Amino acid sequence: MSLFENTLKQIEKAATIMNLDPNVKALMQHPQRIVEVSIPVKMDDGSLRFFKGFRVQHSNYAGPYKGGIRYHQDVDMGEVTALSAWMSIKCSVVGIPLGGGKGGIVVNPKELSVGELERLTRGYVRAIQYVVGPTKDVPAPDVNTTPQIMDWFADEYSKLEGKDLKGVVTGKTLEHGGSKGRGIATAQGGVYVLNEVATSQGMVPANTKVVIQGFGNAGGVMAQLLAAKGYQIVGASDSQGGIVCTHGFNPDALLQCKVEKSTVKNCHLDMEKLSTMEGSSCKMVTNEELLETECDILILAALENQVHEGNADKIKAKMIIELANGPTTPEADEMLAKRGIMVIPDILANAGGVTVSWFEMLQNADGKYWEENEVFEKLLPIMVDGWKAVKANADKYSCTLREAAYVTALARIEGKIREQGIL
Ligand code: NAD
Repeated sequence: MSLFENTLKQIEKAATIMNLDPNVKALMQHPQRIVEVSIPVKMDDGSLRFFKGFRVQHSNYAGPYKGGIRYHQDVDMGEVTALSAWMSIKCSVVGIPLGGGKGGIVVNPKELSVGELERLTRGYVRAIQYVVGPTKDVPAPDVNTTPQIMDWFADEYSKLEGKDLKGVVTGKTLEHGGSKGRGIATAQGGVYVLNEVATSQGMVPANTKVVIQGFGNAGGVMAQLLAAKGYQIVGASDSQGGIVCTHGFNPDALLQCKVEKSTVKNCHLDMEKLSTMEGSSCKMVTNEELLETECDILILAALENQVHEGNADKIKAKMIIELANGPTTPEADEMLAKRGIMVIPDILANAGGVTVSWFEMLQNADGKYWEENEVFEKLLPIMVDGWKAVKANADKYSCTLREAAYVTALARIEGKIREQGIL
């Protein structure tokens, strides 16, 4: 099943649970605009290459389209469309006034020089200039796109429009209008939700073992934040493999080692240094073994479709937190629900990132910039309210948290659709 088919299925399920007006469901199953462009780029050797790019604007009932741009050799329209729909849902789960969009370029950016990457980005902006804008559609970083790329985007768009319109993208560097706290916002938002769950379940951090798949921006920071709260981080992995320590390890040391040696796997020689926790012994594991490690919380922070029909029955965690987008397939979701494993869904757990992107839009619009503590003071109630709304719907409809998150979002979007007289 394709990612977009997954999304349609998820909307369908929630619509049945809440008895949603079929017309609202249909509006959410039909993206409003799909743009495909061909971007000519002069390469360093003088040749001209064409790259395929997309921008999908799923819905703007709640506010301007919002969502990242992915640079990846395997990106396709179906994937971008699914991701754009998830953005519509995610923004409404946490009640921020944004719709859903997503973009992508079919490219392996690692094969391009910095100059080629800049020319590609500027070419993409020229190609989609007429559909984006600070109050229309505001892209952001996603897989393989960086604050530097966002700075190029904002600069090119401002030049084309003849005025400073840096608010056309978020995730920029601080020097070019980015927001403080954006780098850790996704993980911090996940921690705020986990705090609520932990309190309601009487979880004691010191007795709670956490495993993290995907020790990158989102997962690495989440490990640090949880370790600081006293959780035992017992496992972590990246694309090359993982490490598991019986009594936990110090995530700062692993992050430092990963910077020096590029992969978690290469850190095995430093295991003693990593695990200063008393009585802890560490071993290297494969990516499959890491997912099957005995723990209380499994954090999925890598890619889509990581927990599927083939491994859902082997998961030993009591709870899963999805920091990645779409890491659990619908089949696996059903298997986990039957086994009573709680899944805190992506559209709630990782919504801290887009919420701080919205803060960046607000700061760009009035030219006043907030301190980091102010950013997190504003993020906290949004994440907590999102959790409470989702939990209330899960209790009301006796459904999973994912289904409840869809119900929460669809009800809010329906309200906007009616306010605008569309139905
Ligand atoms: P990243 O590239 O910094 O990190 C991803 C990590 O996952 C890397 O360390 C990579 O090696 C690892 N990985 C890849 N395949 C793996 C596998 N099979 N097993 C184990 N590890 C594997 O990316 P990121 O920004 O941390 O994003 C991770 C996920 O979170 C993505 O799905 C992204 O869409 C989602 N997300 C990120 C943010 C954000 O603000 N960073 C916001 C919302 C959602």
